[in-house]
Amino acid sequence: MLDLRAQYGAIQGEIQAALTQVLESQQFILGAQGRALEEEIAAYCGVRFAVGVASGTDALALALRAAGVCPGDHVIVPAFTFIATAGAVMLVGARPVFADIEPTTFTLDPAQVASRATPRTKAVIPVHLYGHPADMDPLLAVAHERGLAVIEDNAQAIGAAYKGRRTGSFGTAAGLSFYPSKNLGGFGDGGMVLTNAEEIAERIRRLRDHGQTRKYISAEPGWNSRLDELQAAVLRVKLRHLDAWTRLRQAHAARYMEMLRDVPGMRTPTVASWASHVFYQYTVRIEGPGRRDAVQQYLARQAISSAVYYPVPLPLQPALASLGHRAGDFPAAERAASEVLSLPLYPELAAEQIERVARAARQALSG
Ligand SMILES: *Cc1c(COP(=O)(O)O)cnc(C)c1O
Repeated sequence: MLDLRAQYGAIQGEIQAALTQVLESQQFILGAQGRALEEEIAAYCGVRFAVGVASGTDALALALRAAGVCPGDHVIVPAFTFIATAGAVMLVGARPVFADIEPTTFTLDPAQVASRATPRTKAVIPVHLYGHPADMDPLLAVAHERGLAVIEDNAQAIGAAYKGRRTGSFGTAAGLSFYPSKNLGGFGDGGMVLTNAEEIAERIRRLRDHGQTRKYISAEPGWNSRLDELQAAVLRVKLRHLDAWTRLRQAHAARYMEMLRDVPGMRTPTVASWASHVFYQYTVRIEGPGRRDAVQQYLARQAISSAVYYPVPLPLQPALASLGHRAGDFPAAERAASEVLSLPLYPELAAEQIERVARAARQALSG
């Protein structure tokens, strides 16, 4: 699905120079690299502030806490996303309330958000899933009407745009993940909070460092959640290449679209008219009971990887059984979980490899 060694091979010299600089400084926590990365990412995403933290999950949890979400509050999240979206809600003691997705883009359905909000709801987390932005205007309108904070889960979509403006710049705050497989991935865990609100940025700077306002003076209970200097140095090198990598992802996706057009039983990704999609994943739908799994097995027999992101909707996860959801509660999410298949897509993929995958996928469905 991904060849990180190919990427490393192309930028090895730059990375080693950046790491050497950190090693020679012997400064590993909250230093010059982290501060520079925060400024560069804030500029890249079009926000005033960015605060480095230890993971994307922590970025979301700290953003919720800084936006005033308290234990017992309700937070609306999509029923179809990675578990960390709901995990972040539970980390601050709040309760995830699920809303179904809009089937063409796999993102939160604004009408569903309106119908699930109650006076206990404090926030909503739109997820820009697979690199495709959620439909922000109607989501922001519902949130505004109900007085909800909007925390964008931008873990999969750095560089994507909604109506010409970068994702992560619309809400109260947003979370980025630098997990190695993400479009901008570090050499370990890492994350960042984006926000235009100075008080939220300051609160997160405090919360990520034991609640300290000064050394050994803690204003509130905090966490230890910092992005270290080695990761920041790696990410600064990779950020310089991100736009070129994104253009390659988009070109590869266009090639797949061309080759997979009109395959019976398969639907290629929809890109909404207002979206610039960064293709963290190239995810098709394969309709019909059991057919998705059959296609995946067919590809595997030809040594072609593919993956299902995600096979079980969040409301049906064992960890969330106490919420009492049953099959049938979130039909669009459940259908997506049974139909999605992500094909290999990363910048270093060669044209022949894409063509081989596409031909095999077509054969799997016409054979
Ligand atoms: C990766 C991811 C996260 C969590 O990020 P980590 O850095 O792994 O903690 C959250 N939400 C989504 C949608 C993700 O893909």
